[in-house]
Amino acid sequence: MATTARLLGLLVLLAALGLLLAGCGGTTFLISTQQEIEIGRDAAAEFDAEHNVDRDSPEARWLQGIGNRVAAAASPPDYPYNFTLVREDVNNAFALPGGPIYFYQGLIETLDHDEHQVAWVLGHEITHVRQKHAIRRLERAIGAQLLIEWALGGDTTKDIAAIITGLSLQHYTRENEHMADELGCRWAAEAGYDPTASLAVLETFRELQGRDPNDFEILFMSHPGNNDRAEAVIRYLQANGYSGAYYP
Ligand SMILES: [Zn+2]
Repeated sequence: MATTARLLGLLVLLAALGLLLAGCGGTTFLISTQQEIEIGRDAAAEFDAEHNVDRDSPEARWLQGIGNRVAAAASPPDYPYNFTLVREDVNNAFALPGGPIYFYQGLIETLDHDEHQVAWVLGHEITHVRQKHAIRRLERAIGAQLLIEWALGGDTTKDIAAIITGLSLQHYTRENEHMADELGCRWAAEAGYDPTASLAVLETFRELQGRDPNDFEILFMSHPGNNDRAEAVIRYLQANGYSGAYYP
């Protein structure tokens, strides 16, 4: 009997969610900003447990200094951003929902420790966070099932964190990527960095992608073609009157 009542409740919830999903034309806003931050925090704890992360060395603090400047330029809306160096030889950087951003040692070296190029990559990742790109994808990816469990009161943030780390939520849409490229230029510029450094980064990606595609696990494989991206960024820089040392 209890099971029947529970099933009935589930069906009602499913129907309600179905209506909600249909009513919003596929755009759902079911995860609050606070939940988003908790999800990102859980996913970050999982990542930290399995990787060589560094938040204390001079190099980690250098990265945090750049990140904090760019994040300050990008708010509001505000998130508890934090920037973590991953001591692994990987050409990558990525953001988790709600604020945690990771930057691999390999990419810092590839970019020659150039703070302007690092600032743009951070601006790109900050944009994914503040525009809720991953969480919107998550809302679509998890579908009604997990949301129902959540609605019934289960503690599912841990499950969702596992989904985030397992499921490639970093596969953003093309539109998301172009927006992150462009707003990355804007936040970097407003923080006092040279936004044309974006073109140097994209050129480096293009060269590396041909040589060693295995390095591009998240940030680059899923992104639109780097030629498209560079052209779009040049249009954005010109339209907004930005110039700099990398693209006079
Ligand atoms: Zn991206």
